[in-house]
Amino acid sequence: MLDYIVVGLGLSGIAISNHLEKRNKKFVVFEDNSQESSKVAGGIYNPIILKRFTLAWEADKQISYSIPFYEELEKKLNTNFIQPFNIYRRFQSIEEQNNWFEAADNLRLAPFMGTQLVREVNSNISGDFSFGKLEKTGAIDTEKLISANRDYLKKYSILKEEKFDYSALEIEGDFVIYKDKKAKNIIFCDGFGLVDNPFFNYLPLRGNKGEYLIIKSKDLKLKQAVKSSVFILPLGNDLYKVGATYDHKDKTKEPTLEARTKLQKDLDKLISCEYEIVDQVSGIRPATADRRPLLGNHPQHKNLFLCNGFGSRGVLIGPLLSENLLNFIEDGIPLPPEVDITRFQKKYYKN
Ligand SMILES: Cc1cc2nc3c(=O)[nH]c(=O)nc-3n(C[C@H](O)[C@H](O)[C@H](O)COP(=O)(O)OP(=O)(O)OC[C@H]3O[C@@H](n4cnc5c(N)ncnc54)[C@H](O)[C@@H]3O)c2cc1C
Repeated sequence: MLDYIVVGLGLSGIAISNHLEKRNKKFVVFEDNSQESSKVAGGIYNPIILKRFTLAWEADKQISYSIPFYEELEKKLNTNFIQPFNIYRRFQSIEEQNNWFEAADNLRLAPFMGTQLVREVNSNISGDFSFGKLEKTGAIDTEKLISANRDYLKKYSILKEEKFDYSALEIEGDFVIYKDKKAKNIIFCDGFGLVDNPFFNYLPLRGNKGEYLIIKSKDLKLKQAVKSSVFILPLGNDLYKVGATYDHKDKTKEPTLEARTKLQKDLDKLISCEYEIVDQVSGIRPATADRRPLLGNHPQHKNLFLCNGFGSRGVLIGPLLSENLLNFIEDGIPLPPEVDITRFQKKYYKN
């Protein structure tokens, strides 16, 4: 008998499976490559919402938990995927500049917001106004993180690279059976795949498609990230990610010409040097109606759980909230009410 079956190995499944290992639990992970959100993500960790200069929900607590979590994971997997860098926010007006300084006075924001105006970040990046500098920020190379986790789980025969067929799950009183596996509990970390999950698709997961361009520019020579109407993220070897877009209507998986044109237009306004587009990637963020994650227990089946709804902030949300979920399952510690799916209980009984 296994302790857990985990469905999905994106940022959610990675965080869950690492916590399970630390707790000495026996588990298996199913992953079928049907969703790309974690793989194509910018991977940025930054607790500040750069539109309004406010703190993202509980993001200061999440960052102080997540970075040591990823550092420990780097050691375990013997690979480096944390890329610390500053983010420079280009101001569009004097008013924005003033708002930045007002926000930087807030005690929870102050550790991350530099109080010196930066005149120039890079000679190829224009700016009528100055830039604000974010500190203690950076990105997780999510492709590297996922691939190292896969290799690790494969080595111990914990990973099943196949589609989890929801209709084949048998739910008994104290355990579940899936084909030849029997487990005490199952945790779904299926991202936007949740729309096909008959146990939890009563929940309001909206999905939000995001796309990035990958560009190559020998002349840009940018070592930090810049945020204007788009982000430019340095990847090394003269490569940069440019994006991302937000589209809550289109739920198709493929990159679009519309996004390419928009990103290219924004980039042309921001940089003055030559570049070439070498790739374009897309994924569906598991975004929710109330912008809070979806965690907890199925309303009727006590051994079915969900760890989803990370929206555009999976890097920081994943490690702490997955631990919250396991504290809830294993030790009966209540979940933060903002993330607990019992807030949508009425929807389940209506269906
Ligand atoms: C363009 C873009 C940019 C982003 N940038 C950032 C950023 O800079 N910082 C940040 O914090 N977040 C960012 N995000 C958001 C972040 O990627 C998400 O919050 C995160 O990926 C959610 O992780 P997840 O594991 O819940 O979902 P997913 O990444 O979708 O993972 C779910 C996994 O489950 C698997 N799966 C689903 N159904 C099944 C099934 N039936 N059987 C087997 N396997 C299954 C899928 O293949 C997938 O691997 C970005 C997202 C996008 C699209």
